[in-house]
Amino acid sequence: MTAVARPRGAKARAEPTVEVLRELYPDAHCALDHANAYELLAATILSAQSTDMRVNMVTPTLFAKYPTPADLAVADPAEVETIVQSTGFFRAKARSLLGMSKALVEAYDGRVPPDIDALVMLPGVGRKTANVVLGHALGVPGLPVDRHVLRVANRIGLAESDDPETVEAQLCGALPKTRWTRASDTLILHGRRICRPQPLCDQCAVQDDCAYYRSSSKDRTPEKGRASRGSRKSPGAKGPRKSHDARKVRKPRR
Ligand code: SF4
Repeated sequence: MTAVARPRGAKARAEPTVEVLRELYPDAHCALDHANAYELLAATILSAQSTDMRVNMVTPTLFAKYPTPADLAVADPAEVETIVQSTGFFRAKARSLLGMSKALVEAYDGRVPPDIDALVMLPGVGRKTANVVLGHALGVPGLPVDRHVLRVANRIGLAESDDPETVEAQLCGALPKTRWTRASDTLILHGRRICRPQPLCDQCAVQDDCAYYRSSSKDRTPEKGRASRGSRKSPGAKGPRKSHDARKVRKPRR
Protein backbone atom coordinates (compact mmCIF):
# COMPACT_ATOMS: atom_id res chain seq x y z
CA MET A 1 0.00 0.00 0.00
CA THR A 2 1.30 3.44 -0.92
CA ALA A 3 2.18 5.70 2.03
CA VAL A 4 -0.02 8.80 2.17
CA ALA A 5 0.09 11.98 4.23
CA ARG A 6 -1.92 11.90 7.44
CA PRO A 7 -3.51 14.74 9.39
CA ARG A 8 -1.03 16.35 11.78
CA GLY A 9 -0.68 14.40 15.03
CA ALA A 10 -2.79 11.49 13.79
CA LYS A 11 -0.08 8.89 14.38
CA ALA A 12 0.41 9.91 18.00
CA ARG A 13 -3.33 10.03 18.72
CA ALA A 14 -4.56 7.02 16.76
CA GLU A 15 -3.54 4.20 19.08
CA PRO A 16 -4.69 5.75 22.39
CA THR A 17 -7.97 6.95 20.87
CA VAL A 18 -8.76 3.59 19.31
CA GLU A 19 -7.78 1.92 22.60
CA VAL A 20 -10.38 3.99 24.50
CA LEU A 21 -13.02 2.89 22.02
CA ARG A 22 -11.79 -0.71 22.02
CA GLU A 23 -12.32 -0.91 25.77
CA LEU A 24 -15.82 0.49 25.31
CA TYR A 25 -16.69 -2.05 22.65
CA PRO A 26 -15.20 -5.38 23.74
CA ASP A 27 -17.94 -6.98 21.63
CA ALA A 28 -16.63 -5.45 18.39
CA HIS A 29 -16.25 -8.26 15.88
CA CYS A 30 -17.27 -9.34 12.42
CA ALA A 31 -21.05 -9.79 12.58
CA LEU A 32 -21.27 -11.99 9.48
CA ASP A 33 -21.66 -15.66 10.43
CA HIS A 34 -19.01 -17.85 8.79
CA ALA A 35 -17.02 -21.02 9.34
CA ASN A 36 -14.15 -20.36 6.94
CA ALA A 37 -12.68 -17.83 4.51
CA TYR A 38 -14.85 -18.96 1.59
CA GLU A 39 -18.02 -18.45 3.61
CA LEU A 40 -16.90 -15.03 4.84
CA LEU A 41 -15.98 -14.00 1.31
CA ALA A 42 -19.44 -14.99 0.04
CA ALA A 43 -21.20 -13.38 3.02
CA THR A 44 -19.29 -10.12 2.59
CA ILE A 45 -20.19 -9.98 -1.11
CA LEU A 46 -23.84 -10.41 -0.09
CA SER A 47 -23.60 -7.69 2.58
CA ALA A 48 -23.27 -4.84 0.04
CA GLN A 49 -26.34 -2.58 0.37
CA SER A 50 -27.79 -5.03 2.89
CA THR A 51 -27.55 -5.72 6.62
CA ASP A 52 -25.45 -8.33 8.39
CA MET A 53 -28.63 -9.70 9.98
CA ARG A 54 -30.28 -10.17 6.60
CA VAL A 55 -27.17 -11.86 5.19
CA ASN A 56 -27.00 -14.19 8.20
CA MET A 57 -30.56 -15.26 7.40
CA VAL A 58 -29.71 -16.46 3.89
CA THR A 59 -26.19 -17.86 4.22
CA PRO A 60 -27.12 -21.05 6.15
CA THR A 61 -29.19 -22.16 3.14
CA LEU A 62 -26.52 -21.03 0.68
CA PHE A 63 -23.68 -22.84 2.45
CA ALA A 64 -25.72 -25.99 3.10
CA LYS A 65 -26.40 -26.29 -0.63
CA TYR A 66 -22.95 -25.11 -1.79
CA PRO A 67 -20.46 -25.92 0.99
CA THR A 68 -17.32 -25.29 -1.11
CA PRO A 69 -16.25 -22.98 -3.95
CA ALA A 70 -16.32 -26.02 -6.25
CA ASP A 71 -20.01 -26.57 -5.45
CA LEU A 72 -20.93 -22.91 -5.97
CA ALA A 73 -18.88 -22.63 -9.17
CA VAL A 74 -21.22 -25.06 -10.98
CA ALA A 75 -24.47 -23.88 -9.38
CA ASP A 76 -27.56 -22.95 -11.35
CA PRO A 77 -27.53 -19.11 -11.31
CA ALA A 78 -31.33 -19.00 -10.96
CA GLU A 79 -31.18 -21.15 -7.81
CA VAL A 80 -28.51 -18.93 -6.27
CA GLU A 81 -30.54 -15.84 -7.16
CA THR A 82 -33.56 -17.27 -5.36
CA ILE A 83 -31.55 -17.98 -2.21
CA VAL A 84 -29.92 -14.54 -2.03
CA GLN A 85 -32.87 -12.52 -3.34
CA SER A 86 -33.76 -10.89 -0.03
CA THR A 87 -30.30 -9.28 0.28
CA GLY A 88 -31.02 -7.04 -2.73
CA PHE A 89 -29.21 -6.69 -6.07
CA PHE A 90 -29.57 -10.46 -6.18
CA ARG A 91 -28.74 -10.98 -9.87
CA ALA A 92 -25.46 -9.08 -9.63
CA LYS A 93 -24.61 -10.76 -6.33
CA ALA A 94 -25.35 -14.24 -7.70
CA ARG A 95 -23.12 -13.44 -10.67
CA SER A 96 -20.32 -12.32 -8.34
CA LEU A 97 -20.68 -15.43 -6.17
CA LEU A 98 -20.43 -17.78 -9.13
CA GLY A 99 -17.59 -15.80 -10.70
CA MET A 100 -15.69 -15.62 -7.43
CA SER A 101 -16.08 -19.38 -6.87
CA LYS A 102 -14.99 -20.26 -10.40
CA ALA A 103 -11.91 -18.05 -10.03
CA LEU A 104 -11.02 -19.71 -6.71
CA VAL A 105 -11.34 -23.17 -8.26
CA GLU A 106 -9.43 -22.31 -11.43
CA ALA A 107 -6.63 -20.19 -9.96
CA TYR A 108 -6.29 -21.28 -6.33
CA ASP A 109 -7.45 -24.89 -6.19
CA GLY A 110 -10.60 -23.82 -4.35
CA ARG A 111 -8.75 -21.95 -1.59
CA VAL A 112 -9.03 -18.27 -0.70
CA PRO A 113 -5.65 -16.61 -1.29
CA PRO A 114 -4.29 -14.73 1.76
CA ASP A 115 -3.21 -11.81 -0.38
CA ILE A 116 -5.05 -8.55 -1.01
CA ASP A 117 -3.79 -8.11 -4.56
CA ALA A 118 -5.12 -11.57 -5.47
CA LEU A 119 -8.39 -11.08 -3.61
CA VAL A 120 -9.32 -7.80 -5.30
CA MET A 121 -8.98 -9.50 -8.70
CA LEU A 122 -11.88 -11.84 -7.84
CA PRO A 123 -15.33 -10.91 -9.22
CA GLY A 124 -17.34 -8.81 -6.77
CA VAL A 125 -14.42 -8.29 -4.39
CA GLY A 126 -13.13 -4.80 -3.54
CA ARG A 127 -10.61 -3.71 -0.93
CA LYS A 128 -13.18 -3.57 1.86
CA THR A 129 -14.33 -7.15 1.26
CA ALA A 130 -10.75 -8.34 0.83
CA ASN A 131 -9.69 -6.73 4.11
CA VAL A 132 -12.66 -8.21 5.97
CA VAL A 133 -11.66 -11.71 4.83
CA LEU A 134 -7.94 -11.19 5.46
CA GLY A 135 -8.45 -9.88 8.96
CA HIS A 136 -11.26 -12.11 10.14
CA ALA A 137 -10.70 -15.43 8.39
CA LEU A 138 -7.10 -15.63 7.22
CA GLY A 139 -5.11 -14.14 10.09
CA VAL A 140 -3.60 -11.45 7.86
CA PRO A 141 -3.84 -7.86 9.10
CA GLY A 142 -6.44 -5.90 7.14
CA LEU A 143 -8.30 -2.69 7.86
CA PRO A 144 -11.68 -2.57 6.10
CA VAL A 145 -12.94 0.96 5.55
CA ASP A 146 -16.71 1.16 5.28
CA ARG A 147 -18.90 4.27 5.53
CA HIS A 148 -18.71 4.21 9.34
CA VAL A 149 -14.91 4.01 9.47
CA LEU A 150 -14.71 6.73 6.83
CA ARG A 151 -16.97 9.08 8.79
CA VAL A 152 -15.57 8.45 12.27
CA ALA A 153 -11.89 8.54 11.29
CA ASN A 154 -12.39 11.84 9.47
CA ARG A 155 -14.32 13.43 12.31
CA ILE A 156 -11.82 12.44 14.99
CA GLY A 157 -9.02 13.64 12.75
CA LEU A 158 -7.22 10.31 12.32
CA ALA A 159 -7.74 10.55 8.58
CA GLU A 160 -8.56 13.24 6.09
CA SER A 161 -10.12 12.09 2.86
CA ASP A 162 -13.43 10.92 1.43
CA ASP A 163 -11.64 8.18 -0.49
CA PRO A 164 -11.79 4.83 1.38
CA GLU A 165 -8.46 3.62 0.02
CA THR A 166 -6.70 6.81 1.15
CA VAL A 167 -8.30 6.55 4.61
CA GLU A 168 -7.23 2.90 4.80
CA ALA A 169 -3.64 3.91 4.02
CA GLN A 170 -3.73 6.76 6.56
CA LEU A 171 -5.11 4.56 9.34
CA CYS A 172 -2.78 1.68 8.54
CA GLY A 173 0.14 4.11 8.68
CA ALA A 174 -0.98 5.40 12.07
CA LEU A 175 -1.68 2.06 13.77
CA PRO A 176 0.39 -1.06 14.36
CA LYS A 177 -0.53 -3.91 12.00
CA THR A 178 -1.73 -6.02 14.91
CA ARG A 179 -4.46 -3.44 15.59
CA TRP A 180 -5.78 -2.92 12.09
CA THR A 181 -8.68 -5.35 12.01
CA ARG A 182 -9.84 -4.68 15.55
CA ALA A 183 -9.59 -0.92 14.95
CA SER A 184 -11.93 -1.22 11.99
CA ASP A 185 -14.44 -3.30 14.01
CA THR A 186 -14.26 -0.72 16.80
CA LEU A 187 -14.72 2.34 14.57
CA ILE A 188 -17.65 0.61 12.83
CA LEU A 189 -19.43 0.03 16.15
CA HIS A 190 -18.72 3.58 17.31
CA GLY A 191 -20.16 4.86 14.03
CA ARG A 192 -23.26 2.75 14.41
CA ARG A 193 -23.92 3.55 18.06
CA ILE A 194 -22.58 7.05 18.81
CA CYS A 195 -20.81 8.81 15.93
CA ARG A 196 -23.81 8.45 13.66
CA PRO A 197 -24.45 10.76 10.71
CA GLN A 198 -26.07 12.98 13.37
CA PRO A 199 -23.46 12.38 16.09
CA LEU A 200 -24.32 11.85 19.75
CA CYS A 201 -21.32 13.88 20.94
CA ASP A 202 -22.70 14.29 24.46
CA GLN A 203 -22.41 10.51 24.89
CA CYS A 204 -18.99 10.15 23.29
CA ALA A 205 -15.95 8.94 25.23
CA VAL A 206 -13.42 10.45 22.84
CA GLN A 207 -14.83 13.93 22.40
CA ASP A 208 -11.72 15.50 23.96
CA ASP A 209 -9.66 13.83 21.24
CA CYS A 210 -12.05 14.66 18.42
CA ALA A 211 -11.14 17.39 15.94
CA TYR A 212 -14.70 17.71 14.76
CA TYR A 213 -16.04 18.12 18.29
CA ARG A 214 -13.42 20.73 19.16
CA SER A 215 -14.21 22.62 15.99
CA SER A 216 -17.96 22.41 16.62
CA SER A 217 -17.44 23.62 20.22
CA LYS A 218 -15.50 26.64 19.01
CA ASP A 219 -18.24 27.38 16.52
CA ARG A 220 -20.73 27.47 19.36
CA THR A 221 -18.85 29.88 21.64
CA PRO A 222 -20.63 33.27 21.51
CA GLU A 223 -17.43 35.33 21.21
CA LYS A 224 -16.53 33.61 17.98
CA GLY A 225 -19.64 35.01 16.44
CA ARG A 226 -21.26 34.01 13.21
CA ALA A 227 -18.15 34.15 11.05
CA SER A 228 -16.69 30.88 12.32
CA ARG A 229 -19.87 28.86 12.13
CA GLY A 230 -19.68 25.83 9.88
CA SER A 231 -15.98 26.43 9.35
CA ARG A 232 -15.06 22.75 9.38
CA LYS A 233 -16.89 19.85 7.89
CA SER A 234 -15.38 16.41 7.79
CA PRO A 235 -15.70 14.72 4.40
CA GLY A 236 -19.00 12.88 4.00
CA ALA A 237 -20.13 13.81 7.49
CA LYS A 238 -23.18 15.73 8.53
CA GLY A 239 -22.47 18.03 11.42
CA PRO A 240 -24.60 18.54 14.49
CA ARG A 241 -27.61 20.73 13.92
CA LYS A 242 -26.54 23.89 15.69
CA SER A 243 -29.88 24.83 17.20
CA HIS A 244 -30.41 21.34 18.60
CA ASP A 245 -27.02 19.80 19.33
CA ALA A 246 -25.49 22.95 20.81
CA ARG A 247 -27.76 22.50 23.80
CA LYS A 248 -26.91 18.84 24.23
CA VAL A 249 -23.15 18.79 23.88
CA ARG A 250 -21.29 19.16 27.14
CA LYS A 251 -18.34 21.49 27.47
CA PRO A 252 -15.10 19.66 26.66
CA ARG A 253 -12.70 18.98 29.51
CA ARG A 254 -9.36 20.70 29.19
S1 SF4 B 1 -17.19 13.73 19.67
FE1 SF4 B 1 -18.94 13.58 18.24
S2 SF4 B 1 -18.05 13.75 16.18
FE2 SF4 B 1 -16.37 13.25 17.62
S3 SF4 B 1 -16.17 11.01 17.56
FE3 SF4 B 1 -17.53 11.54 19.26
S4 SF4 B 1 -19.61 11.44 18.39
FE4 SF4 B 1 -18.16 11.54 16.67
